Amino acid sequence: MNKKSIVVQKYGGTSVGDADKIKRVAARIIDKKKSGKSLVVVVSAPGNTTDNLIAMADSISPDPEIREMDMLLATGEQQGIALVAMAIHEQGYKAISLTGQQVGIMTDSAHSRARIKSINTKKLKKELDRDNIVIVAGFQGISAEENITTLGRGGSDLSAVALAAVLDAEVCEIYTDVDGIFSTDPSIAPKAQKIDRISYDEMLEFSSAGAKVLQSRSVEVAKKNNIKVHIKSSYTEEEKNSGTIIMKKTKDLEQVAVRGVTVDKNQVRISIIGVSDTPGVAAKIFGELAKENINVDMIIQSSAHETGINDISFTVKSEMLKRTVEICSHIKNNLKAQKVITDKNVAKISIIGVGMRSHAGVAARMFELLSENNINIEMISTSEIKISCVIDSAKGKSAVKILHKAFCE
Ligand code: ADP
Ligand code: ASP
Ligand code: MG
Repeated sequence: MNKKSIVVQKYGGTSVGDADKIKRVAARIIDKKKSGKSLVVVVSAPGNTTDNLIAMADSISPDPEIREMDMLLATGEQQGIALVAMAIHEQGYKAISLTGQQVGIMTDSAHSRARIKSINTKKLKKELDRDNIVIVAGFQGISAEENITTLGRGGSDLSAVALAAVLDAEVCEIYTDVDGIFSTDPSIAPKAQKIDRISYDEMLEFSSAGAKVLQSRSVEVAKKNNIKVHIKSSYTEEEKNSGTIIMKKTKDLEQVAVRGVTVDKNQVRISIIGVSDTPGVAAKIFGELAKENINVDMIIQSSAHETGINDISFTVKSEMLKRTVEICSHIKNNLKAQKVITDKNVAKISIIGVGMRSHAGVAARMFELLSENNINIEMISTSEIKISCVIDSAKGKSAVKILHKAFCE
């Protein structure tokens, strides 16, 4: 079989939200198949299934074991793949659905945020050789201990890109409910512009800054393996579906200072109050969190030189709040800190663009715009191509509109 003829597609939850949508997805998959490609299709849990399962678990236990949570959440994707396979059969084509375990997507054992270690392509290739369209459950894998694991919210994107990498696919097509990557979330700013091409680095910043259209870990894998990723709409006719192509950096990508604006409301701030101003404190706190695979985003340390006492604040994803507080409360005792406090009413807004490397004054303009609109900046972080500010979450959307209008319209 010509390896290069493999295409990996991924359909997100909204694209398979009801029976009609599933039938339309099946028709789209069959059209691709008819063009002579071998097809591996990753499917997410239909509609709000994952959120509903989380709510159901919450109503049973305030603190369910994460092994059982993964067992539960993985069932959402299993529904999606079976339904899509059935719809393909109904339209007269061969398809087989496979769970992460059946494919052999091996992960570490960090439940709810597992990392893919390897993917066995034997079964996939066997089914492709049988001329099957292979439908794979996104977001899930299996650990060495044979426990079902999940890859973090939005993890089906990662499943798709990782499969494209191991199968040496010619492209990984991500079908979703918007026409591509926009200069900001089109549901917030109607004047958002579709971006035709974007570099891996910019996309990585978009994703890690909250543009949930693509999970950030999937962009990392795409970059590392040089996978061509094409974001498209699952509603638009294929001829008009130009979407957004994610690619390596090119010269023309460097001309715009700000390519887009994002808001991430899925953030919480944790502060450890009253830690002593001595070497090793930050290493201890963030070392313990790293051991538990908890990604810390922004960090701020306010020091009071006279007293020798510091406050350390940082942000993590909301779903990590509980675990993070547990760890911090434990460290607090060891460090003899005064208390641990949390704030859920925060949002991170960011402006992103590779052009910022060569355009001075962008940060100053961003701070000015926020101040003119009476939006207080609580934390700041920058990279070469991104500036992020933590603000009050109630002002998140209006901040996006203001920044998008000033920089992108
Ligand atoms: P799927 O169910 O296909 O995985 P998601 O809901 O995870 O879809 O991601 C698609 C959503 O991402 C869009 O509906 C849009 O509201 C949101 N989004 C946020 N930022 C952007 C952006 N910059 N460009 C496009 N979509 C964005
Ligand atoms: N169903 C999972 C989620 O809602 C994975 C995904 O959609 O990519 O996060
Ligand atoms: Mg998604």
